[in-house]
Amino acid sequence: MFETLSDRLSGIFDKLTRRGALSEADVGEAMREVRRALLEADVALDVVKSFTDKVRARAVGAEVVKSVTPGQMVVKIVHDQLVEMLGSEAKPIDLHAVAPVPILMVGLQGSGKTTTTSKIARRLKERDRKKVLMASLDTRRPAAMEQLKILGEQNGVDTLPIVAGQSAVQIANRAINAAKLGGYDVVILDTAGRVTVDEGLMDEVVEVKRQTNPHEILLVADALTGQDAVNTARAFDGRVGITGIVLTRVDGDGRGGAALSMRAVTGKPIKLMGVGEKSDALEDFHPSRIADRILGMGDIVALVEKAAANIDAEKAAKMAKKMQKGEFDLDDLADQLRQMQKLGGMNGIMGLMPGMGKMKSQIAAAGFDDRLIKRQIAIVQSMTKVERAKPAVLDAKRKRRVAAGSGTDVSDINKLLKLHRQMADMMKKMGKQKGGLMGALGGM
Ligand code: GDP
Repeated sequence: MFETLSDRLSGIFDKLTRRGALSEADVGEAMREVRRALLEADVALDVVKSFTDKVRARAVGAEVVKSVTPGQMVVKIVHDQLVEMLGSEAKPIDLHAVAPVPILMVGLQGSGKTTTTSKIARRLKERDRKKVLMASLDTRRPAAMEQLKILGEQNGVDTLPIVAGQSAVQIANRAINAAKLGGYDVVILDTAGRVTVDEGLMDEVVEVKRQTNPHEILLVADALTGQDAVNTARAFDGRVGITGIVLTRVDGDGRGGAALSMRAVTGKPIKLMGVGEKSDALEDFHPSRIADRILGMGDIVALVEKAAANIDAEKAAKMAKKMQKGEFDLDDLADQLRQMQKLGGMNGIMGLMPGMGKMKSQIAAAGFDDRLIKRQIAIVQSMTKVERAKPAVLDAKRKRRVAAGSGTDVSDINKLLKLHRQMADMMKKMGKQKGGLMGALGGM
């Protein structure tokens, strides 16, 4: 599915990683090519735009880690952004509910709904040791009911006996009751599909949902239909509300755009993917594995991760030494601020550091919050090397110059200096204690 896109991207990044230094223009050019490659893979336009914007912002702000090239760094950023676009974490089917857990399968005719229903049932039975009942609610196509029954027989999964003349809602209620009486763990309801999204279909699904209160509502979408699949998902989510997506025909020769845009457009996770016609051709959707597959540069990503971990350890050790000596200059402060930005601002960082309540309230008292981090860094950047190392030299004249250079007021400079003094004091105190803050700072 992702071969063409994968080839395109590896071409772009091969060029980039072979270079030593990278200019902003190099990154810009690579991003234009990435943008083109994603659009050609049929990824939704706004998804592409937000993707390249985020990569660019991260690339500009990123510190290039020692022992990797800037190009490798960009690959890692693109990889992380891809993972985020695909939903970050794998989201398996959720069965945490009172048995029998109802799962509603929705989607267009031919999307692979019935096949997927039986694939899921088989996997729940074999892997999770669940007792599963399946029921087809397709009252207009007796062949569909027959198909589910045959699939059930082939896979050793029970299906609800077919009773002619019942409505979809009646069958659904009968299925829930039968599942309760029969001691089933899960009951999967395979709703009727239509060739296109229509009101009658939606009304029926909404009514079945109302009556059965399903724990999962899974939209089955054919990955080969590209943007149509994304639009279908959006329509079903808007009208019925879905809890997840199963992408089928990921084994096919598609361009991959549906898989790539689905999550970003609908906000709903892709939980599973169908990778063939056979009843065991169903896989969990792991965003990081899919990103690896698309980018095909797993070794570079691992290399950068390892180098970054080493750098963090080196930095922490250096910082610990400085603290013990009571040295903590404004460059160190700016460094800490940048790390805070990376880790998701003040709340992120405080969450990571045990026993930081006091520092947190001091920082808050200094009028310091996430919005100001950028400004604080700008202030430090407007200072000379001497000023950063020895803040005491900052007299009124120098402060006015720094304020003008960073687009702030002298009062902002004073606030920053106060914060620095408080932090330096605290570091000195804690640096003398063995362990102390150092351990916590290791993660910064
Ligand atoms: P429904 O109308 O949505 O219930 O669709 P079906 O379950 O009847 O599937 C339609 C066709 O798609 C069948 O021939 C299936 O074998 C095929 N199919 C379903 N899922 C996949 C898949 O993941 N990969 C491939 N290659 N074929 C699939």
